[in-house]
Amino acid sequence: MARLLCALAMLCSGVLQAATPLAGAWRDVRDGDTPAKVMEDFRQGQMNRFAPDLLLRLPQGARGSWVVLDPPPPWVQEERVLSIYPPPLGTVTLYDHNRPTVSLAMDDFQATIHGHGRLAFLLGRELPASAPLLLKFEPSARIAAPVSFRLQSWASYLQQDARWLVFATASLAVMLAMALMALCFALMLRDVTFGWYAGYILCYALIQGIQTGFVYHPLGMNWLGGLSITVGSAAVALSVAFASLFMIRFCELQRFAPLLRIPVLALAIGMVAVVLMRCSQIDALENIGQLLVNPLLTLGAALLLLASIVAALRGSRHAWFFLAGWTPLLALTAMTSAQVNGALPGLDWLNDAGLAAGAFEAVVLSLGLADRALMIRRDRDQVRVLADKDSLTQSLNRRAWNEVAIQAMSNPAARPQALLFLDLDHFKILNDRRGHAAGDEALIAVAHALREELRPTDLFGRYGGEEFVALLDGAGDEEAMQVATRLCRRIHRLEIPVDGEQLQLTVSIGVAVRRPHDSIDSLVARADQAMYDAKLGGRNRASLQRHEESAAQRRVSRTGRMSQRTS
Ligand code: GH3
Ligand code: MG
Ligand code: MG
Repeated sequence: MARLLCALAMLCSGVLQAATPLAGAWRDVRDGDTPAKVMEDFRQGQMNRFAPDLLLRLPQGARGSWVVLDPPPPWVQEERVLSIYPPPLGTVTLYDHNRPTVSLAMDDFQATIHGHGRLAFLLGRELPASAPLLLKFEPSARIAAPVSFRLQSWASYLQQDARWLVFATASLAVMLAMALMALCFALMLRDVTFGWYAGYILCYALIQGIQTGFVYHPLGMNWLGGLSITVGSAAVALSVAFASLFMIRFCELQRFAPLLRIPVLALAIGMVAVVLMRCSQIDALENIGQLLVNPLLTLGAALLLLASIVAALRGSRHAWFFLAGWTPLLALTAMTSAQVNGALPGLDWLNDAGLAAGAFEAVVLSLGLADRALMIRRDRDQVRVLADKDSLTQSLNRRAWNEVAIQAMSNPAARPQALLFLDLDHFKILNDRRGHAAGDEALIAVAHALREELRPTDLFGRYGGEEFVALLDGAGDEEAMQVATRLCRRIHRLEIPVDGEQLQLTVSIGVAVRRPHDSIDSLVARADQAMYDAKLGGRNRASLQRHEESAAQRRVSRTGRMSQRTS
């Protein structure tokens, strides 16, 4: 654990590591500007000073901005790297007095070296270490996100770059693994909640991949190059739509916050509509989509937060998972938006924190989904138990007994099996005289006594009304008759307390031993027939169905020879 924390601390320190402090100045690009003129302005102090290690938001001028960075002493003549972090989405050009200019953008694939998670310019050994560096930020259609600047040695840059790659790869891998797992669960459990979750995490991973430039370097997805703005904003809108659909089901809004379910659903639909408008290629629609997206995002975040808090407070267990996983991400998004307006200039790591928060959220929500899967399984098991049990006597009901009996008889009969068919005697009279409730009490007591008398391996069930069945494993004629006789005695002696009196009942039992080609139905039919023999023989007895007898012989014998009176 300590090692893990140490490794994490090293990773973070690598990501956050401050480079050589620089001095800097910037100004808008003007008509007739040349690099020499800008440098002259810089030397004369006619540019806006700023601290390059803090986040700087360059205004979104129509022509872009100049930035001059002045390396402080000591000046070591070595290969250095100037990196711009977080990576801007537009193009940045470095003017080097002795060499051709170098232009870099996250989504260009020409440059021989390219930063990961930042724009990186390699400064050759021949460039004087004390020379100021001139950069031009080309105008961009996007809201300019604030950036910071670092100047480091090649070796220290390489170390930082490798650490960033490990960190970003691990974060994105966690997100993708969780999304993949959720997709499998969605298919296996046929639960669309997992599907919405997978969609949400995949969109979020894509947003992070574009924002940090990971999809371009190292993934090299050059087809995304010209589409980054369209794909990025579609992913943002879709991630909110998926998150809304996911949270409706995951936090059980229908049950815990029904009034908020409709607006959350409307948010999901609204977000999909915005995506469609922005991809419509119709100017008017694209403009409306552009106008709607930011208000919808702000409103949506507040709505999802409100809905999950209400659901959590009203008892939705999974809403707590949602809040725990999503709140850090929401806080980060709010802080990043504040940075666009100039707040929190020291927190340049927020961009990378989005990756870690995404991975954290994916893990927390996956735990929540695992909990949900467990709950679904528990509910199903419970329903299954309820469906298999007779609610009055708590014995297996006829359907469930049949299922298990068929399974028990599916093995070729290595051991004998016998079936007892039990029918209470004159039960109707008990019902008529004492009432149905007394009859129910009697059924419960009889079933309990029968279960106690049988072995746990005997398959006992309520076949219907006041009829019970028991499939005895390993019992031939004699053993089955012994058990049946014992059961008759037990019921005869059973005293059933009803309204302060002790009732007594008797039972007639038909016994049939399994034949080679018996099915469960034929076995039950023969035991039922033997039970009628027992009734005809005077009740309160067991009667064995002898398969070697013909029907005629059986009719003769059923008056008594085959029956064993028990009292
Ligand atoms: P026999 O000795 O010939 O079996 O006589 P019987 O009165 O038991 O006759 P029969 O088997 O036809 O009657 C079964 C009675 O069991 C009829 C019905 O009112 C009663 N019964 C069936 N299910 C229940 C139940 O769940 N609760 C109660 N109290 N009575 C039931
Ligand atoms: Mg009956
Ligand atoms: Mg009966």
